[in-house]
Amino acid sequence: MEYISTRGNYKPVSSAEAISLGMVPAGGLFVPVEIPKFKLKEIMSQKNKNYQKLAAWIFKKFLTDFSEDEIEKAVEAAYSEQKFPEVEKTPLVKLNQNTYILELWHGPTAAFKDMALQILPQLLAESAKKMKIENEIVILVATSGDTGKAALEGFKDVEGVKIIVFYPEAGVSRVQEDQMKTTAGENTEVVSLKGNFDDCQNAVKDVFADQDLKQRLEDNNYQFSSANSINWGRLLPQIVYYFKAYLKLLQDGEIEAGEKVNFTVPTGNFGNILAGYYAYRMGLPVNKFICASNDNKVLTDFLETGIYDINRDFKKTISPSMDILISSNLERFLFEMNGHDSSKINDWYQKLKTDKKFKIDDQTFTKIKEMFSGKFSSEDEARAAVQKTYKDYNYLIDPHTAVGIDSLFKYRSDSDDQTKAVVDSTANPYKFSRAVLESLKGEKIDRDEYRIIEELEAMTATKIHRGLAGLENMEAKHQQSCEKDGVKEKIEELLKL
Ligand SMILES: *Cc1c(COP(=O)(O)O)cnc(C)c1O
Repeated sequence: MEYISTRGNYKPVSSAEAISLGMVPAGGLFVPVEIPKFKLKEIMSQKNKNYQKLAAWIFKKFLTDFSEDEIEKAVEAAYSEQKFPEVEKTPLVKLNQNTYILELWHGPTAAFKDMALQILPQLLAESAKKMKIENEIVILVATSGDTGKAALEGFKDVEGVKIIVFYPEAGVSRVQEDQMKTTAGENTEVVSLKGNFDDCQNAVKDVFADQDLKQRLEDNNYQFSSANSINWGRLLPQIVYYFKAYLKLLQDGEIEAGEKVNFTVPTGNFGNILAGYYAYRMGLPVNKFICASNDNKVLTDFLETGIYDINRDFKKTISPSMDILISSNLERFLFEMNGHDSSKINDWYQKLKTDKKFKIDDQTFTKIKEMFSGKFSSEDEARAAVQKTYKDYNYLIDPHTAVGIDSLFKYRSDSDDQTKAVVDSTANPYKFSRAVLESLKGEKIDRDEYRIIEELEAMTATKIHRGLAGLENMEAKHQQSCEKDGVKEKIEELLKL
């Protein structure tokens, strides 16, 4: 399988090259040149496979330059009992007669990012070996919270890799900060930056583009790479749980073989929902994807009008992992939907740069609308969904999942489409305990986050996720900090350049 650039500006490459490059050097994203297709019968024959086996079955279609053994080793290590203790790695919970919740947060850090970030490091290390990269790889991450911890856990003690995470001092919750600072591993570094998330991200971007630093890294046998969701190695693993959810519905006797289902996805960078779309193109019976957004509803508007318009204020919400105006994986999606027309992609993304908006052609838009519907939830609606889901079903959800559920119910009442639907649950409720408890009680709470967690446990008799339990009393292993213009110097210090 070869991978091509969405902007037509790079030669076709192997999966190892696509994964080790991360993105196309001149801009653009790698996508598979064609999408492997399964017959329904083949999909059904996977019904009793466990998660690891199912993952290997899908990976083999895309990672054709990896041996079976390499793939199996990687999936066994990533989705081991130690990392994901549940027998079902992604349990499916029935909420009512046509609504199911796919819990994607049973990995080490309680975030759905674990699904991909537990395996990306191994795919990356293996890809680097194949590409004969002898330098040690330095993963640089700027995080607003969840990605940092998930990346640290994934890259911890992976051979040939170091990871340095920068987070904004005042921009993450106490629990998120403690999660990062207590990370073990000989190859992990965590630095708090005196600034906000934008400062953090811009500083890391500057460092990536710094030619002087690049040369000095090279002289010391290092090179930078990134773990963000534009890497194909992060997108591919997410295809697996769409198949898993469907096969579980079959196993549980909830659907018939070949019956179409809907998926609702709380969306930020468009990675998760795009993985679902790839699963559909591979033959999974899907009727509709419902793209759920919060108040930063660029995607809802796009799916309604065909115009992608980021001329608007950025809003901070209780579902911060969806607070995004530019959904980087949308570029891949548009390329798939417009028949791999890279000249159109170039045109649209040039317009996004100059005008902060672009309009897609009618043909592509019609095609998108057949499969996708966009809905959004206001802050009040998301809070109400947390409360109502707990009250009606005795089931606790986090604010991101709440946006998903609320959007699904809106879609159903607007469209009359009552098809059985799976809602991706992207975070454990304890990760966002303040917003969850405030939603349940209908009032603002000023207490310390750890006391809130205790109250939530006592009130709902649900168990705190193991990745968050005992955190308050754990020893911090990382106490580094730097000024917002001191990122480069900090990296030089940490790598002893
Ligand atoms: C990252 C994240 C999302 C958004 O996923 P995308 O793949 O970026 O669309 C949604 N919810 C949570 C909790 C996340 O961490």
